Amino acid sequence: VESAHGPRNLVGASRAELTAVLAELNAPAYRISQVHHWLNRRLADSLEVMTDLPKGLRGALAERCIVADPDILEVRRSPDGTTKFAFACHDGAVIEAVSMPMAGRTTLCLSSQAGCVVGCVFCVTGVLGPGRNLTAGEIFGQYRAMVRSEKLLGQPLNVVFMGMGEPLLNLTAVGRATELLGETVSLRRITVSTSGIAEGLRRLAALPRRPNLAVSLNATTQEQRARLMPVAARWALDDLLAALRAFPLERGRRITIEYVLLAGLNDGEDDARRLPKLLGGIPVKVNLIPFNADTVLLPDFHAPTEETVNAFAAKLADAHLNVTVRWSRGQDVSAACGQLRGRMLAHRRRPGHRPASDT
Ligand code: SAH
Ligand code: SF4
Repeated sequence: VESAHGPRNLVGASRAELTAVLAELNAPAYRISQVHHWLNRRLADSLEVMTDLPKGLRGALAERCIVADPDILEVRRSPDGTTKFAFACHDGAVIEAVSMPMAGRTTLCLSSQAGCVVGCVFCVTGVLGPGRNLTAGEIFGQYRAMVRSEKLLGQPLNVVFMGMGEPLLNLTAVGRATELLGETVSLRRITVSTSGIAEGLRRLAALPRRPNLAVSLNATTQEQRARLMPVAARWALDDLLAALRAFPLERGRRITIEYVLLAGLNDGEDDARRLPKLLGGIPVKVNLIPFNADTVLLPDFHAPTEETVNAFAAKLADAHLNVTVRWSRGQDVSAACGQLRGRMLAHRRRPGHRPASDT
């Protein structure tokens, strides 16, 4: 519930916050569950649709509260079914999210920040620079808006934090949003993807209920990683791998290792040889992501050929790694995860410098 700027928004409110709001109106306790159900299970977009609440209570709520998701600015549909949403937050921050229908299950990719301080050199969000943390309501609101728009309520869903931003630098809001997502999506179907943030990973490991973990490794030596992910690489590769080795996993679960393949930079035979050695002893599945090119914002990087990708994958499989390739979807709407936002800008630019960051 955010009350500093006008009416409180009930989207993203915890049960305790809903309790406080309804207590002010002297509503009986069971009304809390009703409102909670409408907001977080039915994904209601207004107070009016909460028809089992008395009109008087709805009116009183409407005087002090709103039910608002980020505004949909633009929806772009790709022939493969991938749909990219651009949203405007109340302060004008533009964020993006993607819906990707697959056989029997749709994956929704959410943003956690309105930019990213980590500054990976191959990532549009990183190149465009830092942006503020999103609130739990803004994160959950992307999900609510997409589920309503794509009519996905009740259908099997995956949720991945692979849009704009570094979720482990906004873990409080991501954790609260995950709780709310948990009302309609199993925690086993929610994945937080990180560039590797020491403090965030420690906090995540300590949570009683954790979503799945994906880690963007993207390199096989410290030096190479420091070139590609300068901020993330402040945490030494060996230390990151040690933390993954110690990360608590439930039985049968694995850590997803994401590896963006960049032609000539990290797609060589020596990389394919080193990667299984680095990952030895960690229960992982490797997801290879052929680079999604952007000739304007990322002119220095190129996608490897399909042949190179397949050869790389085959070498990992030979070394007994569980490996999949994430062939890009929705390329025509630039919907690839981690490639969001760039095409929304009226004046595309390369920033002269990247502000110093503190992780
Ligand atoms: N900040 C988090 C989550 C968002 S990025 C993280 O880095 O993990 C999600 C994924 O997209 C990361 O694995 C990232 O390496 C990848 N990615 C970023 N830019 C990309 C691009 N241009 N092509 C392919 N994958 C990209
Ligand atoms: Fe941030 Fe992830 Fe992009 Fe790196 S890849 S800049 S951590 S969003």
